[in-house]
This record gives sequence, C-alpha cells and structure tokens, in this order.
Amino acid sequence: QKVYLNGEIIASEDANISVFDRGFLFGDGIYEVMVQLENGIFYKKAHLDRLQENLDKIGIDFDVDTLYPEIDALIEASGLSDASCLIYMQITRGTAPRKHSYPKGIAASVMMYALPFELPYINTKNMKAITANDFRWHRCDIKSISLLGNIMTNEAAMIADCDEAVLIRDGKVTEGSHTNIFFVKDSKVVTHPANEHILDGITRKVLVQLCKELDLPLIEKAISFDEIPNTDEAFFTGTTTQIASIAQLGEHTYYDGNDIGPITKQLREAFAKLKDIDTAD
Ligand code: PLP
Repeated sequence: QKVYLNGEIIASEDANISVFDRGFLFGDGIYEVMVQLENGIFYKKAHLDRLQENLDKIGIDFDVDTLYPEIDALIEASGLSDASCLIYMQITRGTAPRKHSYPKGIAASVMMYALPFELPYINTKNMKAITANDFRWHRCDIKSISLLGNIMTNEAAMIADCDEAVLIRDGKVTEGSHTNIFFVKDSKVVTHPANEHILDGITRKVLVQLCKELDLPLIEKAISFDEIPNTDEAFFTGTTTQIASIAQLGEHTYYDGNDIGPITKQLREAFAKLKDIDTAD
C-alpha cells in the first residue's frame, strides 16, 4: 500500500507523522473522499474546491491546486490507473507544541491514499436506519477529521443491526452519520438546507441538479421527526453510498423486501448514467 505524505509517495509502513501533529492532538484538519470511475475522478473539481473552501474556513494555509498532479501520480504508483478506486485525502494544520491557538508559520501535513473500490451501482439492498440524537457541534458544514459524533452514532446503528444512523436535532432530521438524506412527499423531493447543521455533500449537490433537470420539484427544508411516517420515500446520498433507498427508518417501514419508490428509482437511474460522462471538471 502506497501513501502520499508531504510531497513523497512511499510505502505506508514508512509513512510517519509526528505525535505533535495537530491532527493527532486536536483533530485539527480537513478530509475529502473521492472515487475514480471509468471516466476519471467523479466530480473531481467539486471535491477539490470543497477541500479548499474547508481549509479556508479554518485558516489552514494550503493551495489544493498543487495536489492535482500528485493525485494522478499516487493513483499510478498504486497501480490503480485503470481501476475503480477511492481516494482519501487529509490535510492537518501541521506539527507544533500543543497549544490551542493556531501556530504561525508551520507547514500543513498532507496525506493521501488510493484503494480499490467497487461502487454499489446495482444496490438492490435497501437500507435500514436507526434515528439518533444529533449531538454534534454547530459547524457540521466543515468536513472536519474530528468525527466522534458521526462514528458514535454510526456504531449505534451497527449495534442495532442497521446500515446507518439518521440524526435528529431539535426535532428535525439533519443527515445521516456519513450521508445526506432526501425524502419524497407528495411527489416533491425534500432535503435539509445546506447550512451549518449538515455537510453539503457533493452527491447532494448532484441530486439537487438532477431534480432540476428531471423537473422534479425540490424543497430544501428540514423534515421533522414526527413527519417521517407521512413521507412516501427516503434515500441516502454520498460519494461511497451513491443513492441508497431506505426501507426502514426508525419505527417507520417504507417497504418490505427490496421494493424501491418511483422517484428514488428515477433519480438512481439518472445518477447511474452520470458515470459514463466525464464529470471531473
Ligand atoms: N454528510 C456527512 C456527515 C458525511 O460524512 C458525508 C460524506 O462523507 C456526506 C454527508 C456525503 O457527502 P458526499 O456526497 O460529498 O460524499
């Protein structure tokens, strides 16, 4: 396994980061996940633009444009040039003696790796999800490497033999532990607005655009927990999840077996066609 670390592509066993790295001490960093399909990296520019925006939000001084050639080199060195793969990238503020305020004049630590990855295009398995209290902070728009709230709620879902946790803040559905969530109600598609209580997923943005193209009315508003039983369909979106139909959400059952709602199906089919297009720019 090769990794990219601060300008070098090396074996993962030889990649070392200081214990004083602020990512390790504070979770002071940003990450990004992209997938490469037959036509290159899916929505590459959108992912790298989001990475730059997030670094800017927390004042990490790093120019993401410098990574374009490095990503290509990493994929090649990993033997994945012609393969479907996942690219993980993480940039932390760098290494300095432990002190809360931002140290001046240190270099960011940059780490990336690529792994083979098969996308769940023919995802016939409907998802089961628990609902859980969204006790995360009020800056979920930042793609922070500190993911305790996300991993704790996801673990609760695993313990309940479910696939995902759907988070509820102040009686409103925000998002999944590592996905965005959409509902369909009276033939309208409804998803939480992109504010500080959710991560504005790239897949979410693609879905918003697809709804426009397909003339499906889309409303960006939070569905309340109590409204869940009155919704007709629900699905998750995410880079590694794609579009996954939800069969069971908390106490509410949408479908028995592997049924899928008509609008979820329409959006999944339209989304699947995107993989044949070069979406890198
Ligand atoms: N919401 C959260 C909390 C996530 O962690 C993720 C993906 O990691 C998403 C939503 C989906 O974002 P994207 O579509 O960019 O993968």
